[in-house]
Amino acid sequence: MKSRRELMLEEMGLTPVWKLRDRPDAVSDEEPAAPEASVSPFGAAQDRLQASVVTRPEDRRGTIMRMEWPELKARVAGCTDCPLHAKRNKTVFGVGDENADWLFVGEGPGADEDAQGEPFVGQAGKLLDNMLAAISLKRGANVYIANLVKCRPPGNRNPEPHEALQCEPYLHRQIELIRPRLIIALGKVAAANLLASDASVGSMRGRIHQYRGIPLIVTYHPAYLLRNLADKSKAWADLLFAVRTMKDLQTGRTGST
Ligand code: URA
Repeated sequence: MKSRRELMLEEMGLTPVWKLRDRPDAVSDEEPAAPEASVSPFGAAQDRLQASVVTRPEDRRGTIMRMEWPELKARVAGCTDCPLHAKRNKTVFGVGDENADWLFVGEGPGADEDAQGEPFVGQAGKLLDNMLAAISLKRGANVYIANLVKCRPPGNRNPEPHEALQCEPYLHRQIELIRPRLIIALGKVAAANLLASDASVGSMRGRIHQYRGIPLIVTYHPAYLLRNLADKSKAWADLLFAVRTMKDLQTGRTGST
């Protein structure tokens, strides 16, 4: 990993860099160093360098991907890495059994979730709980529920791509720690981001997709189902498909289609 000094010299076209053997790099990957002076002696080059140190995505992702649950929860609780933090009341990390076979992923918190700090606690959440009950599941028991983004997009708009991108390592790490057998993507935004696809929910349903090697099934978002009652029967078919898929996964009998 390049040190801040190496990056600075590179920025100024003064590389390669010779290192003293007994001097460790001044800055770790964990957090960017505070600027040493309010007025940079190197002007714009220094400013650009500091911006690149702050936002280097591979360092940020690497740091997050090494976190265990307590650090990850604390990191999300204090996150200010995208504009969504400015208007949130509570971050919504996720809830449930941290060793669950089932992971349900929604889009992002709404007003109720933002107030309570728990996913799917409003009207859509009640429907999700009913959907779980219909297949003999319940939140917290072999089920984990999380969202793509951990802060409420104002006015319940969809998360912007750069907001989803900033939040993605958190969900990625949650999935690595949970190691679910099956992921259920709830709605177009979750599916599109997890599968990097712009396809409609209708065209993604009824198949087993993969998220980083984990089987994933797409169904309608509960909030959509509240407005489109006719599609509830399709969601029911998706849940039955998910139950069959889970049985096959538990007995080692399934592959992707
Ligand atoms: N909709 C979502 O996608 N997630 C929630 O937590 C609540 C509503």
